[in-house]
Amino acid sequence: MDRADGWDGPRRGWGVSAGDELSARMAREIAEAVTGLRDWRVQHPTATFAELEAAVDERFNAARARVLGELARLSAAADLAGRPAGERARCPACGDRLAPQGKRRRAVVTQGAREVVLERDYARCPACGRGVFPLDEELGLLPGPLSPRLREAVVRVGTWIPSFQRGAAALAYFTGVRVDAETVRRQTEAAGAALVDRETAEAARLEREAPAPAGGPRVQQISADGAMVPLRGGEWAEAKTLAVGEVVAARDGAGAPVVRTVGASYFSRLADSDAFGRLALPELHRRGTATAGTVAAVLDGSLWLQAFVDLHRPDAVRILDFPHAVESLSAAVQAALGVGAVAAVVWLARHAHELKTGDPDAVLAALAALPVHDAADPAAAATARDQALGYLRARREQIAYARFQAMGLPIGSGMVESANKLVVEERLKGPGMHWARPNVDPMLALRCAAANDRWDEVWPGVVRSLRRAPDPCPTRARRPAGLSAAQAGRPRRAPRPPPLRVAPMPADRPRRIVAGRPTPDHPLKRRPFQHRELLRQTTSTKR
Ligand SMILES: [Zn+2]
Repeated sequence: MDRADGWDGPRRGWGVSAGDELSARMAREIAEAVTGLRDWRVQHPTATFAELEAAVDERFNAARARVLGELARLSAAADLAGRPAGERARCPACGDRLAPQGKRRRAVVTQGAREVVLERDYARCPACGRGVFPLDEELGLLPGPLSPRLREAVVRVGTWIPSFQRGAAALAYFTGVRVDAETVRRQTEAAGAALVDRETAEAARLEREAPAPAGGPRVQQISADGAMVPLRGGEWAEAKTLAVGEVVAARDGAGAPVVRTVGASYFSRLADSDAFGRLALPELHRRGTATAGTVAAVLDGSLWLQAFVDLHRPDAVRILDFPHAVESLSAAVQAALGVGAVAAVVWLARHAHELKTGDPDAVLAALAALPVHDAADPAAAATARDQALGYLRARREQIAYARFQAMGLPIGSGMVESANKLVVEERLKGPGMHWARPNVDPMLALRCAAANDRWDEVWPGVVRSLRRAPDPCPTRARRPAGLSAAQAGRPRRAPRPPPLRVAPMPADRPRRIVAGRPTPDHPLKRRPFQHRELLRQTTSTKR
């Protein structure tokens, strides 16, 4: 007898006949579904294909739930009372043998809204009094009515679909299971919070143990930026996002050599710059930033970004995002020659090209020589010119674009702007959305896991965290010597290392919301560059 067909373990396992009975019961379920379908078809001779699909799903889902129940009951953890005391399962908290307390029923909802009813043993630990369902433990069931697969489906739709209401509707369409929007929200946020906890713990572990990082690529690009998220009460907060990619040589449509950044992955948090820098460690560790041949840090010039690079790869080649440099030239020349004036457009095109392919000092000289005295507002024009000069001179090393391109390095940070849209804005900035601050990071963590194509990798860990962690046994802790509580399998209860406690961000900058609406000065109302410029200024003054 095959073990998979009928457990024949100690004392009272299923024998050959029990296994045969089980197989026969499952075969009967399938046969009944098929027979019912044939009868239904006879009564509906002109049914459409869609109607056939619905009829098949209906009957097979019912059979599926009953077969699932049969298989779930065929378990090593079953029949606790029938075993001798010495063979009973142990308390997950203190390791004592469990004492059987009879059976309890539980219904688990699965595909097609069908219930799988499990009659399972309940047991108590005589030492610490903890109640345990050994079958739930073995099957990895989560608290709540949904099967583990449905629970994951809820969190997937909650993560991807930009409204919990629509997520619930999508779930109903694809699984036949109706839950309300509030359930999607709660379960998504709980899973996200578990993921945030795990990632924070991982950042702390990497800081503490400093294991060897993954092997990095020959050339890597890192970029980081902020995006504003609407909070409840009309407040806005900046979600910071890191994008990491591998830089490869490619050719454009005309066969000319170009630089591309591929395989982008992201890390995003609502955190101040110091905490963000440290929490981003696992993503950079995974991508091998420390071991990459060359790292190009293409950034918008914010001071916090420089500190971020200092922390993770101080020898990175720092590059001011080229569109930012051009924008500063643009502001100066428009103030001097007139907004939209032909002369200003011509000047900008010529000097942007020179900056990209030629000598930055020639561009700085041309900038200094702008005829501000002939401007409509000479004082404003002089100020704009001096601001641009100050900004670019302070970053003289970071605007050597011809040299960067000759080195095969990227000069634009479009990668992180895409990341802002993909990870943050598409989900967190929908119409009418206002987030409670504690719920932002959980969503960002899940969005990154999905956008990084790492969902299947991180989900089992989230499930482990979501399953009720064993309470510490008050009488006898029998964890192996030398292991902390966290290592002994209670990650959510583990005390976090104090240095990495992430404080909520202070209320962000001057109010730019009046009567619940963004003012014209609000970042959202400004063009993309000005938005980022504003962030640069505000984050610089904050430091
Ligand atoms: Zn116990």
